[in-house]
Amino acid sequence: MSQRSWIAEAMGVGEKDLLKRFREAADQPLKCQEVEASQAPCQEVILKQADVLRLLPIPTHSEHDNGPYITAGLVIARNPTTGIQNVSINRIQVHSGNRMAILMLPRHLLAFYKEAESRQQALDVAVVIGVDPLTLLASQAVVPIDHDELEIAGALHGRPLPVVKCQTNEVRVPASSEIVIEGRLLPSVRELEGPFGEFPRYYSAREHREVIQVDAITHRKSPIYHTIVPAEMEHLLLGSIPREATILAHLQRSFSNVIDVHLSIGGVGRYHLFVKIRKIHEGQPKNVICAAFGAHYDIKQVVVVDDDVEVHDPRQVEWAVATRFQADRDLVIIQGAQGSVLDPSTTVGQDFGPGVVPPAHMQGISAKMGLDATRPVVYHEHVFTRVRVPGELEVDPETVVQSNARIDWHTGAVSA
Ligand code: MN
Repeated sequence: MSQRSWIAEAMGVGEKDLLKRFREAADQPLKCQEVEASQAPCQEVILKQADVLRLLPIPTHSEHDNGPYITAGLVIARNPTTGIQNVSINRIQVHSGNRMAILMLPRHLLAFYKEAESRQQALDVAVVIGVDPLTLLASQAVVPIDHDELEIAGALHGRPLPVVKCQTNEVRVPASSEIVIEGRLLPSVRELEGPFGEFPRYYSAREHREVIQVDAITHRKSPIYHTIVPAEMEHLLLGSIPREATILAHLQRSFSNVIDVHLSIGGVGRYHLFVKIRKIHEGQPKNVICAAFGAHYDIKQVVVVDDDVEVHDPRQVEWAVATRFQADRDLVIIQGAQGSVLDPSTTVGQDFGPGVVPPAHMQGISAKMGLDATRPVVYHEHVFTRVRVPGELEVDPETVVQSNARIDWHTGAVSA
């Protein structure tokens, strides 16, 4: 998953249709198809007394990581109220053969857990390792609670995803996956987890986290163990592409002239958003900026550019900021909003002193910055016209230039 073009290939579309195809799948999910255990490759081998550490080659990834981590595990759980499943990827530190600590950000899995814990009940989970690229991508869809990400995986495949019931609980997992760890998130139990090198290329602190008790492991014969190397391209793109699709749809609901969005790699695929618009009103880029901050709390900086700027090229975006932006009138700053708890420049790292962890409701408080780097709708003559050489995009020097060719510079005729 570490190249945009490979992800497009897995989806069977060109790169320019990537977000559109993902959005269509997220909007039109397909119900999963349940199969018998005998038809599920992920249950070819069933181990009820398995030792996670001895069985699986779980790496310790970064220099200061506290130990081995499962980084490509799809955590699947059921909403205790509705029974509808949720899929997310969470970092999981393996403490022993049957106990693992998990980081749950304030999203759907945590909501399920809190609900179960309020009744002093465990939450059944499955940690699925080794799925196809489309299921992996679907797991990261930014959709409301009770939208089952496995149904989005089915839509991406164009047919219902085969799932099988776990051996020790009611969770349904992709039948063709390589390895499934079945377990329970225990109520009222916390164990220390971290430090761990995360996607912003910093370590997150050692803190008390929720704990999974492992009940069983099932796997294919000769399973493949998948790990995601933290902060590298696979990690960044898995998060950024589904978010881009959701953010684009969110913005287009209010602004039909928003054309494209990109979460830059330099902005760790999460924090910096570039938006391309066909501007029709001088005030609109600032409305777009405000709407973008509402699309996902991770977004920290938004740059709005015109339709002659390629948002996938950070050099072009910087050019637009350099030549179409004035800080005294084009800058928007919002103080004290909710940001990413993994961004070390938020309150996590600042106000509470060394080693003091702020309570969850005080973590990740962040400022937001928006830059309107668009040119005026109406401008005099060529003052904001981008310089182009006619034909520069169409001509391919590889095919029109021959070595030792003789060129008649008046007619353009080429002779060998
Ligand atoms: Mn969800």
